[in-house]
Amino acid sequence: MPDAQGYFGEYGGSFIPPQLETIMTEIAAAYDECRNDPAFKVELARLYKHFVGRPSPIFHAENLSAKYGTDIYLKREDLNHTGAHKINHCLGEALLAKKMGKTKLIAETGAGQHGVALATAAALVGLECDIYMGEVDIRKEHPNVVRMRILGANVIPATHGRKTLKEAVDAAFEAYMKDPINQLYAIGSVVGPHPFPMMVRDFQSIIGNEAREQFQEMTGSLPGNLVACVGGGSNAMGLFTAFLEDEGVKIHGAEPAGRSLTEAGEHAATLTLGEPGVMHGFKSYMLKDEQGEPQEVYSVASGLDYPSVGPQHSHLKDIGRVNYGTVSDDEAIDAFFELSRLEGIIPAIESSHALAYALKLAKSGERGSILINLSGRGDKDIDFVVEQYGNQYGIDQLV
Ligand SMILES: *Cc1c(COP(=O)(O)O)cnc(C)c1O
Repeated sequence: MPDAQGYFGEYGGSFIPPQLETIMTEIAAAYDECRNDPAFKVELARLYKHFVGRPSPIFHAENLSAKYGTDIYLKREDLNHTGAHKINHCLGEALLAKKMGKTKLIAETGAGQHGVALATAAALVGLECDIYMGEVDIRKEHPNVVRMRILGANVIPATHGRKTLKEAVDAAFEAYMKDPINQLYAIGSVVGPHPFPMMVRDFQSIIGNEAREQFQEMTGSLPGNLVACVGGGSNAMGLFTAFLEDEGVKIHGAEPAGRSLTEAGEHAATLTLGEPGVMHGFKSYMLKDEQGEPQEVYSVASGLDYPSVGPQHSHLKDIGRVNYGTVSDDEAIDAFFELSRLEGIIPAIESSHALAYALKLAKSGERGSILINLSGRGDKDIDFVVEQYGNQYGIDQLV
């Protein structure tokens, strides 16, 4: 998967303006070449090991395991250079752009993680970098904005609509259309037109390839359950891909229920409540408003509030291979503090959704082992969490 047209079952494909068709075909061809080029693979492997710090470890969270009555393991993508899984595909996309003779990487970012990872890859590989970010996210994720600018990237605010991730995608896409020859739109997840969902998945699949081997080495068997949070779905596909053929492994994707699942605009539970449709160049489940346009979405996790989802997830949902459920803002924040205080690891709010889902599984009686993809670290979120939730968790003003 996907087929030659980029379809995963009935999802995916390429719905783009005619003037982009040649360029997308070129990108697909260039990627195909890289994928089979030993020199490209050696260079990417070198960067994964010596620049990112891979392989990321799996940690047996013994305190959580004891409390929740089943073995809980964490795949520590939070320990990667730049603090999340996104560097895995950003390095791949940067090397591809360089090889194609592009001069600039452009992209959208939600929480700023993709922007920081891409700005990092651009600095390393020697490319210019323009990052589009919603004004609301710029305010919420200030440290990441500063990081991108220190790394030499331009941060360009998206000022329309809800001023979050979807608007950032709109703005980046518009800029890309103006010069697709010299720029590469380095999409930040397993979304967009073919070949991006495949390409980003392939670059991320190192997570599951490592995890499958590490887990067997640690425990002598495969995990009973996998859990990952799903925004666009790249960290989830990264973990899931290596296990899709393992029938004994149950796979779960956690979507953000935000403040309310019953109110449009208060969640981003695309697979749970959406319906098939086309946006941003591909077909997938999406959340639509009455006009059939992308619905406004919300999650406490800036990296998860997107009204569509990677097309392979839609396929995996339809064939029943992956079970998709939801986690509310409050459950995620609870899990954020639970991991911080029981294991000494501050997770990203996005990753806290995966964690919360796993804890719900354990509480509902699941006794098989659970491997959670800890997609990123929470340093970027600490000011926001303390400001919004600090007094609920006993963090009062010190002075
Ligand atoms: C961006 C981000 C996500 C969501 O993106 P996916 O493509 O769904 O993985 C999840 N966790 C972290 C830490 C992120 O930065």
